[in-house]
Amino acid sequence: MQCQRLRSLAREWFLKVREDALAPARMMEFIHRHIRQCETCQRDPDLPQEVEKIREFIRAPEVIPQGESSSEEWEEEALA
Ligand SMILES: [Zn+2]
Repeated sequence: MQCQRLRSLAREWFLKVREDALAPARMMEFIHRHIRQCETCQRDPDLPQEVEKIREFIRAPEVIPQGESSSEEWEEEALA
């Protein structure tokens, strides 16, 4: 993870998830929202893998509950 901003945000969100103050799926949503707006994250070639590791770690559902987006589409989005 090259982005310092995401690193500290992820830490904050993760603490909230552990305290049950934030749903894991919500945390993943926040991560993706940040990536969409962040050039550093978009240029980080390892980030999609690291995000996947975070997802497994917090046991968020693979498909973000937004309806249609499959996990594959989701990966493309993370790489975009
Ligand atoms: Zn970032």
